[in-house]
Amino acid sequence: MKDAIVFLGIQGSGKGTQAELLAQHIGFLHVNIGDLLREQVSLGTEIGAEVKSIIQKGELAPDEVVFGLIDTRLEACCDGVVFDGFPRTLFQAEFLMHHYRVTRVYYLDLKKSEAIQRIQGRIVCSQCGTNFHLRNHPPQKKGICDLCGGKLFTRGDDSPSAIQKRVAAFYEETFILKSFFENKGMLITLPATKSIKELETMILEDIKLG
Ligand code: AMP
Repeated sequence: MKDAIVFLGIQGSGKGTQAELLAQHIGFLHVNIGDLLREQVSLGTEIGAEVKSIIQKGELAPDEVVFGLIDTRLEACCDGVVFDGFPRTLFQAEFLMHHYRVTRVYYLDLKKSEAIQRIQGRIVCSQCGTNFHLRNHPPQKKGICDLCGGKLFTRGDDSPSAIQKRVAAFYEETFILKSFFENKGMLITLPATKSIKELETMILEDIKLG
């Protein structure tokens, strides 16, 4: 069984950023299901065709698609995985517990109104996937990624109606995982309003203690 560390949180809580930083520090593979699904869409695969409109609407992709993508991506790779955006339902959480040795679950706590404000201004690099924010974290040159020079774009599912649906799906399906992992003594709650650096340090200190 591989080790797994999980990042839970509402959209915009910064779990993707922290998951990537942690994965780099400890040499685990960072797996973001949203990215895997979007990759299928841009490659024009059968799976991509199946999930394209689901993602645009802000609904959840079918479990068998998600589990299949995880299995393919993780076959013969790495000692451990940092998941972000997975699990998103109780069913997915049970799957995770059966297939991985879950060592840590970080919950990045953020108010709904703040989350919506963060997602609304989000722009993403089309080449390296780095996130910027029109107001909170603008790029040095408008529309261009500071890191790789790629073009920045607004995700299709960051439209106002899809944002509402995604946030609603978080409270209806995913929020319950907070108590699921809390009851197992695995949950570590962190305030998502701290800076990226502060959160990175808190997580690394926690990992060293563990
Ligand atoms: P994200 O990039 O994490 O916001 O995910 C974008 C979209 O991908 C979501 O709105 C869902 O449509 C889909 N998705 C991501 N993770 C999952 C998951 N664990 N289960 C089902 N659908 C997912």
